[in-house]
Amino acid sequence: MPTLRRVTVLSGGVGGARFVQGLLHGLRSGTVPGGSADTEVTVVANTADDWWIHGLKVCPDLDTVMYTLGDGIDVERGWGRRDETWSARTELEAYGVEPTWFGLGDRDIATHLVRTQMLEAGFTLSQVTEALCRRWLTPVHGDGVRLLPMSDDRVETHVAVADPESPSGRRVVHFQEYWVRLRAAVPAETVLVVGQDAATPAPGVLEAIAGADLVVLPPSNPVVSVGTILGVPGVRDAVRATSAPVVGLSPIVGASHVHGMAAQMLTSIGVEVSASAVGIHYGARERGGVLDGWLVDDRDADQVARLEDAGVRARAVPLMMSDHDATAAMAAAAASLVVDGAA
Ligand code: GDP
Ligand code: CA
Repeated sequence: MPTLRRVTVLSGGVGGARFVQGLLHGLRSGTVPGGSADTEVTVVANTADDWWIHGLKVCPDLDTVMYTLGDGIDVERGWGRRDETWSARTELEAYGVEPTWFGLGDRDIATHLVRTQMLEAGFTLSQVTEALCRRWLTPVHGDGVRLLPMSDDRVETHVAVADPESPSGRRVVHFQEYWVRLRAAVPAETVLVVGQDAATPAPGVLEAIAGADLVVLPPSNPVVSVGTILGVPGVRDAVRATSAPVVGLSPIVGASHVHGMAAQMLTSIGVEVSASAVGIHYGARERGGVLDGWLVDDRDADQVARLEDAGVRARAVPLMMSDHDATAAMAAAAASLVVDGAA
């Protein structure tokens, strides 16, 4: 069985972070075929959710991965710091400072202060991320993981929604406003990824894809997490060209997402909300796409044949990340599906 020396994961926030946590658990406990505690994991995180708020640069997906792997996450919420307090938010509200719908926790603000100061001093987002991770990815937690932003350039997802009061009948809002203020409760007409065409992959991203023994698309949002990473010029080509097998896990179980708003995002780009449609949207590598294999949940076992017809090797396994063991089993099944001789 080939040894997995390096695994690269293209991750969003909560879904991707939980998957990587389970993957690490599986590598350490020896349940991922070919993997071991020495397997190096590189996480390339989406940065198109990033924005500036109250003068601070906030990178939700990078922070969710960092806090999750570093055991600083609020597990219930899935994002932000554990044991968080909200005094700064209350004080800002007392000043009438907008927007009041986006709350930053007091502990979390420290991260954004460090990041913002370093960016303003001229460091790149990659350098800042590396510095922040020195605290979180330690020998105790998250050892052997490297976290890279997808790009050091500003890339921002915006969403067009219907607005009868606007002369054009529509309004474009930042992804955070769509998700946090509008709670993704109104249809997304279009998703625009501002700055993407001019962005370049952050240092190490293309190398991590080319030099991997396995590339994984975790159960992250296919449009605004994995889609935006693949959309950074050069990344999709690197995934298509890598000698490593590429495997993905469906974030859609049954007829909807498990959490979040993948259904709204898929609808906005005209993709049916089903596990197989997402796999076919990514496409088989041999037919111009990025996947060699795709896992769907047991409940979607009847969709395996459709995927295989589209050239994607597929299998149905339990895909609920209910605990570390269950998630490690998903990582093991993903590796088994595509690493030759591992099944
Ligand atoms: P975000 O940036 O915080 O939205 O996180 P991601 O993009 O990484 O992941 C969001 C996706 O994770 C959603 O589409 C969810 O459906 C998916 N997800 C969350 N928990 C689970 C789970 O237990 N199983 C599966 N299959 N998908 C999940
Ligand atoms: Ca996100």
